[in-house]
Amino acid sequence: MIVRTSIAGRQAPSRRGEAATEVTITDDGAPWDGLREECGVIGVSLPGGAAAPYLHLGLLALQHRGQESAGIATHKGGRLAVHKDMGLVAQVFSDANVKSLTGSVGIGHVRYATMGSAVLANAQPMVASSPWGPIAIAHNGNLTNAGALRTALEAQGETFTATSDTEVLLRCIARSRAPSLAAAIAETMGRIEGAYTVVLLAGARVYAFRDAHAIRPLVLGRLQDGWVVASETCAFDNIGAEFARDVAPGEIVSLEGASHASMRAIPRARVAQCVFEYIYFARPDTTLAGVNVHQARRRMGRVLAAEHPVAADIVVPVPDSGTSAALGFAEATGVPFEFGIVKNRYIGRTFMQPDQGTRDFGVRVKLNPVREIVEGRRIALVDDSIVRGTTAGKIVAMLRHCGALEVHLRISSPPIRWPCFYGVDTSNRRELVAAHLEVDEIRRQIGADSLGYLSQDGLVSAIRLPRDKLCMACLDGDYPTTTGAEEDAGKYALERRP
Ligand code: SF4
Repeated sequence: MIVRTSIAGRQAPSRRGEAATEVTITDDGAPWDGLREECGVIGVSLPGGAAAPYLHLGLLALQHRGQESAGIATHKGGRLAVHKDMGLVAQVFSDANVKSLTGSVGIGHVRYATMGSAVLANAQPMVASSPWGPIAIAHNGNLTNAGALRTALEAQGETFTATSDTEVLLRCIARSRAPSLAAAIAETMGRIEGAYTVVLLAGARVYAFRDAHAIRPLVLGRLQDGWVVASETCAFDNIGAEFARDVAPGEIVSLEGASHASMRAIPRARVAQCVFEYIYFARPDTTLAGVNVHQARRRMGRVLAAEHPVAADIVVPVPDSGTSAALGFAEATGVPFEFGIVKNRYIGRTFMQPDQGTRDFGVRVKLNPVREIVEGRRIALVDDSIVRGTTAGKIVAMLRHCGALEVHLRISSPPIRWPCFYGVDTSNRRELVAAHLEVDEIRRQIGADSLGYLSQDGLVSAIRLPRDKLCMACLDGDYPTTTGAEEDAGKYALERRP
């Protein structure tokens, strides 16, 4: 199931259908119903060196952003080589195939599917021929007008081999008649809407560009005599790179050899960085727009404690997503922090359930309470978010089953009441429990003794960025772009078309 492509000025062959193995998440079963990571990108230009080992290490650091597929494309001597497959970075790449991806420039991607199923045809980097030779592209985010653009391109005779918005972006650039590739990218940025951070490989050059609202993160760093761009600074730490700056909204950065250049492609719009990067998606050791993620989460826990104090014996995080906020909650209240739940880190997305009747099986495979900590205690349980509410209910039931006297749930984000159209797999209001129930109704459904969410103002004060520089659309319904209809969005939007 490995796609290994080497092209020189021609289109990569279609692999559609060859490996259409949907990665399923069993339910129930389902080990989790929370927010899903969305994708990570990296690009490297390392004059005189080999880019692939650095891309590989960088992707390992970005693995939390997507575990469904991984890929790297490099360029050498007019040829573009791609290796990608379904699975984790460590499963997709061996030492031998990293070594075989030669060249001093390249891009990499880890994917969680938010538009287009989790199949090999949608794995990235995607490649196409173009007037400027073969190009490879990798993308984080969602385009809100992908369906309309695809329809227009099909009317012009374009054919598609995948079902993701990334291919729409790729074909827009590849079909452009602009005088240069940079101009083609700028022209495409003027046509596409929504959230995108993109790395593109063409010849010996890497381009990186970001939507006008800067919804998804993208940072630029120094790597020896060359340059690196990545979704998060944690990828820089892994490869010994030094943070230089955030890529600006609407900017195109090009990296070639030891040099880099920048151009403003489209006018800057209202900056709207996703607050859930701070709450959940980004790694705690990452710094986004000058704010360390772990510290921001810790402050969220402190503010949460002030807004929803509780008489408890211990503060227990839902690992790992609630850990930083639980630490802040414990610090602010003086209640001892305890690891009352242990997470199994080695569970994949699928597993076999021995029988359907095993209660809470799906959650218990992933999370297990420590009876000796939990029994006879009043627990302040801290997690980052509630999406559907089913997992939270199971965790509360597990704790009670282990003898917890009381379970008070504290959530370090405000209620999620609106869908996300920007690369998070919550594109339908029907799935969001807080879109339909009041807080006390959710508490009853979950079975907690009390439930408290962080307020929107509390969240902003914890992140320490101005509210008008943040996207909080899934919390307040104020979208930074036009969005289209819910039924035209989501993972299967381009698979439902006639
Ligand atoms: S809608 Fe929510 S999850 Fe989506 S980008 Fe905005 S803040 Fe992030």
